[in-house]
Amino acid sequence: MRNFCDGNCKKSISDMYAVNVFNDTVMRERLPKATYKALRNTIEEGSTLEGPVAEVVASAMKDWAVERGATHYTHWFQPMNGVTAEKHQSFIVPTSDGKVIMEFSGKELIKGEADGSSFPSGGLRATFEARGYTAWDPTSPAFLKEDEGGITLCIPTAFCSYTGEALDKKTPLLRSIEALQKQAIRVLRALGNTTSNRVITTVGPEQEYFLVDRDLYKNRKDLVYTGRTLFGAKPPKGQEMDDHYYGCLKERVASFMKDIDEELWKLGVSAKTKHNEVAPAQHELAPVFTEANIAVDHNQLTMEVMKKVAARHSLACLLHEKPFAGLNGSGKHNNWSLSTDDGQNLLNPGKTPHENAQFLLFLCSVIKAVDMYPELLRASAASAGNDHRLGGHEAPPVIISIFLGDQLTDILEQIERGELKSSKQGDMLGVGVSSLPMLKRDTTDRNRTSPFAFTGNKFEFRMVQSSGSVSDSSIILNTIVADVLGEVAERLENSADPKAEIEVIVREMVINHKRIIFNGDGYSNEWIEEATKERNLPNLPTTVDAIPALISEKAIKLFEKHKVLNTSELFSRYEVQLEEYTKQINIEALTMIEIGKREITPAVIKYITEVSDSIIKVKSISESIDTTAQEKLINKLTSTLNNFNKALETLEKKNADAKSVTGDILNKAMFYRDEVLKVMIELRSYGDELEGMVDGKLWPFPTYGELLFYL
Ligand code: ADP
Ligand code: MG
Repeated sequence: MRNFCDGNCKKSISDMYAVNVFNDTVMRERLPKATYKALRNTIEEGSTLEGPVAEVVASAMKDWAVERGATHYTHWFQPMNGVTAEKHQSFIVPTSDGKVIMEFSGKELIKGEADGSSFPSGGLRATFEARGYTAWDPTSPAFLKEDEGGITLCIPTAFCSYTGEALDKKTPLLRSIEALQKQAIRVLRALGNTTSNRVITTVGPEQEYFLVDRDLYKNRKDLVYTGRTLFGAKPPKGQEMDDHYYGCLKERVASFMKDIDEELWKLGVSAKTKHNEVAPAQHELAPVFTEANIAVDHNQLTMEVMKKVAARHSLACLLHEKPFAGLNGSGKHNNWSLSTDDGQNLLNPGKTPHENAQFLLFLCSVIKAVDMYPELLRASAASAGNDHRLGGHEAPPVIISIFLGDQLTDILEQIERGELKSSKQGDMLGVGVSSLPMLKRDTTDRNRTSPFAFTGNKFEFRMVQSSGSVSDSSIILNTIVADVLGEVAERLENSADPKAEIEVIVREMVINHKRIIFNGDGYSNEWIEEATKERNLPNLPTTVDAIPALISEKAIKLFEKHKVLNTSELFSRYEVQLEEYTKQINIEALTMIEIGKREITPAVIKYITEVSDSIIKVKSISESIDTTAQEKLINKLTSTLNNFNKALETLEKKNADAKSVTGDILNKAMFYRDEVLKVMIELRSYGDELEGMVDGKLWPFPTYGELLFYL
């Protein structure tokens, strides 16, 4: 085909896509056949990787990376604090003639020593045995990171302790994927499927974020230190006009998004949709879904790339769940499904779901799993940041329920009555203009208020925090569904008539677990009432309420049974998460104290002085001039400043007291929630009141209006 740009135009997407990934195509090209086959076996079947194979792969990987300018490699891993970590090593090996050669051995590929005693371990690793190991995860492809610091070969790895306990978010994810695959295949076999070899968990994470001007951002200590604004009066305009959602992109934002797409494509991340979200300055990016393990890695990379590219555009990308009070927060939607290696989506209902016994069995297994373990799903989205978002009237409520939509709800009702006959069909939708095409109406409308919604051929878990890893919720979903599928498999395998048994199982599941299905308005107060009082569903408003589920007897039994997390790993996660919660609030409190003392108080005093001076000057002209307005203002300013100061002193005291709370980490977390956070809210209200009174030119940091609209 003729090339229209004669080499002068920019690279096409297909030229750029995955150029920085050591993926299957590259491996096939560069590895000897036998090595390639052995590696594929490891990736697909989980067979143990032999030393000589690793040796050949390492050498090919290094050659590929060095040809592209890489000088260093790093084991890239995901410690329990939800970010990614890396320690760079160069490939160089000095030779006897005073030169260097580039080398990379199989051993270096497979195993690294992370020596990271300062990563959170929740007591799993005392400092005297601080050794940690990173282990190559061949199921997620290695990639090159390109930035001002050079080009680095990144090898996705799992991170574990000297004694083999998981210290990261990848190890349990891989274990949960295996657990689910094992049970799902059993079910498929029992249903007579002999062709599928594997069941794959698929994940498509939608990522919300805010963009603000970098110079403004730098003048906000709260954003810099904590990711959210701790002060800030409401601007005259918020999101009430609904003019931002899907609105046309500002050029500066569009240019950022274009760069993000290209950077991600080079890394093999299939960024697909981008649009403006509900709040001003809020946006979303969604990739095409892929295998869970890769999707999690890709989402971590996406967050990293977003921050980096934002800086290049003199922007700051805010991933916090609630950067601005009074506006929508950001979440991450975990779109989750199961498919077979021969391409069958097990949650695809087909045209006539009522005839699709396999679909109904898998659907009801998910329903049962969620109803059995709602606390765990809730816990998977718990963090100090997300506490500000969940349960508000813009984000999913903290009560877990499932939205199924009309068609499936109707089918489940038929099942319950024991007379399954039909599937409601989506009809044609005319828009009343003859020149426009007739559209096929979906069988269900959307429901944005549900935390866990069936959306056509997948479930969408919407509680996940925007800044967190999508691994946690995937681990929980995989494990709880594996558990139910295990029971199902057991029954089918022992049944003389599996077909008849499916009907029995599905009907039982519907009857016993229908309380979790709710298609109505999840934001309404009536729902909270009904959910907690009539349906007995758990309502766990904060992280402190949610995290203890991780160490419940029920959870320990579940995770031990499926070998996803053992008891000490669960306790370590419990501790790490609560500790992170307390640390986060402590930093926020300290930041408020600093801003309060060093920025707000001096600005207010300056203004009070100006106004006082003005009274003296005015009176010097004539005692009879009325200065009531100034005097009123001074009164109001000083009384608010006094309240502000009192709250500030209380916050200082409470935050110091928090340090001495002893016993289980839960006590400390509770103290932060009930004592420290409470005063922070009070302090903020006085601060925001002062902002509304003080001369705008004297206010020490950018306002909400500037942050949100001056882009
Ligand atoms: P919305 O939720 O706004 O309707 P989309 O329809 O664009 O968004 O889909 C959201 C995400 O769901 C995308 O990342 C998409 O790739 C993902 N997705 C679609 N099918 C599946 C599936 N079978 N498994 C997991 N994720 C999926
Ligand atoms: Mg969505």
